[in-house]
Amino acid sequence: RRPADPLDIVDVDSLLTDEERAVRATVRRVCDDLVEPHVAQWYEQGELPARELAAQLGRHGLLGMHLEGYGCAGMSSVDYGLACLELEASDSGIRSLVSVQGSLAMYAIHAFGSEAHKEEWLPQMAAGEAIGCFGLTEPDHGSDPASMRTRARRDGADWVLEGSKLWITNGSVADVAVVWADAGEEHGGIRGFVVPTDTPGFEAHEITHKMSLRASVTAELALSGVRLPGEAVLPGVTGMRGPLSCLTEARYGIVWGCLGAARSSLEVARRYSCERVQFGRPIGAFQLTQAKLARMSTELQLGRLLALHLGRRKDAVGLRPEQVSVGKYNNVTKALEICRTARTVLGASGISGELPVMRHANNLESVLTYEGTVEMHTLVIGQALTGEPAFR
Ligand code: FAD
Repeated sequence: RRPADPLDIVDVDSLLTDEERAVRATVRRVCDDLVEPHVAQWYEQGELPARELAAQLGRHGLLGMHLEGYGCAGMSSVDYGLACLELEASDSGIRSLVSVQGSLAMYAIHAFGSEAHKEEWLPQMAAGEAIGCFGLTEPDHGSDPASMRTRARRDGADWVLEGSKLWITNGSVADVAVVWADAGEEHGGIRGFVVPTDTPGFEAHEITHKMSLRASVTAELALSGVRLPGEAVLPGVTGMRGPLSCLTEARYGIVWGCLGAARSSLEVARRYSCERVQFGRPIGAFQLTQAKLARMSTELQLGRLLALHLGRRKDAVGLRPEQVSVGKYNNVTKALEICRTARTVLGASGISGELPVMRHANNLESVLTYEGTVEMHTLVIGQALTGEPAFR
């Protein structure tokens, strides 16, 4: 007897409420309508119609959906996680657009912005009428952003930003950038700035020739004498706690999202294994193929249990950064392994853009690196276990 859902043998779904299943089904329908018919072509051409897509996703309440007020949907962390999984089942680039908008740019303004920042930006960002980006990484400072060189200096009542940021998702299509800069000890060290991207001195250049996340806009930001009014600084936080708490928020979405890429790949591989005949039998009838499918399916179910557990904890009491690190470390590593294994089940067809599997695997190479590399999360977990920071 076949289980009802071959990808959910242990029935993780039974742990969801009817409302949560309904949210998931709605997001799936949105992705099937707006993303699935086009995403392979966007990926191949390395072009994303980010503006149109953001407006459509905004209309469906998917931008900043876990935030309260200011036009945001105020959904639970579990709802948000389920949405990330469905988005990333279509493409990690689409989930990245939504993560950066909601969990990085909007969250920073929501958590640390002034009332005026929130009222100006959050409603239009929730509606997808304004796109946000989050500038932390620099050409010479990735895993170690605390050593950043971008500076904010006071000039009378104004702030002036100088520096550059690299690998910034949504960067060249953004209307507003949350930029992190060193303001000096007397002003609290690292501070966040709300920068309208039409401010003189702000330039964004799209990064091309990416072999991963091709259905996502990535840019370099150049900040040359970007003059901002005094109130452009995020008043609610000083130091690295600002960017790091935004990253914890976004990493939580990735804990779920990457499983979408894995689920999609496993689904394709399982179906193919039942249809593809070699040596007179479906390849799914060979033990080596079944071993691959069994491992992929088991890891996917374990990943979903972990994501759901973290989501329930987040909704109940909040999460510590090392708890999110366990989720990102495990689920992204396993999701990538699932996509790569699924690719082998498909043989030569696995390298074709006609199927989504190699696209998912290539995308997860970025997901493994951004929002803290797998090595950084290993060290976070190592420090939690031993009390010894091994970062430097
Ligand atoms: P490095 O920090 O130079 O690391 C290189 C290698 O060395 C890695 O394997 C790393 O784990 C390892 N390493 C470094 N230090 C140690 C150590 N102490 N011990 C062991 N190993 C170590 N950033 C943003 O600010 N905003 C964005 O929107 C954004 N979007 C991105 C989108 C994409 C597609 C990509 C690829 C990146 C994006 N990033 C963004 C940047 C991303 O967060 C950084 O790439 C990441 O933090 C790693 O920095 P790095 O690439 O400079 O690598």
